[in-house]
Amino acid sequence: MSRIDCGENADLLLKFVAGRLDSEAQVRLNRHLEICPACREFAGGQKTVWDSLDAWEMAPVSPDFDRRLYARIQGEVSWWNRILAPFRPPQIRKGWPIAAAAWLVLVAGIVVVDRSIMVRPAPRKTSIQVESLRPDQAQNAIEDMEMLQEINGLVGPASAASKM
Ligand SMILES: [Zn+2]
Repeated sequence: MSRIDCGENADLLLKFVAGRLDSEAQVRLNRHLEICPACREFAGGQKTVWDSLDAWEMAPVSPDFDRRLYARIQGEVSWWNRILAPFRPPQIRKGWPIAAAAWLVLVAGIVVVDRSIMVRPAPRKTSIQVESLRPDQAQNAIEDMEMLQEINGLVGPASAASKM
């Protein structure tokens, strides 16, 4: 029968207070506490600490703690869902507005290209004009023509609007 050596069994007392001793050791320690005021005091002090810890831990747990916790977890999850939505195949429909916007940009680009082609005058006249010129002169002439066409394209709609 091992006696509790006071001062060296703080760990045992702490386990006793925490309820982590097996029943035999608990009985033995209880018996010792009855005859040893020092250990009783130590155990009592630890018990107070544990009780206050329990009280401290219990106090903040309100009845809807779990609900609020899960609501918060849910909130975080949906936050991540929103971030990851464009990268997830099952939620590709959520990315539809982006696809539609990209498609609209593409269509708008085609329309602009179409208009620039339409604004361009018939090339036949130009080719007749540049036939008698040397290649470098022809190049300059073409560049001049293109610049004029671009200016016409820019000024055209505005002058048309000013006439209205
Ligand atoms: Zn003792």
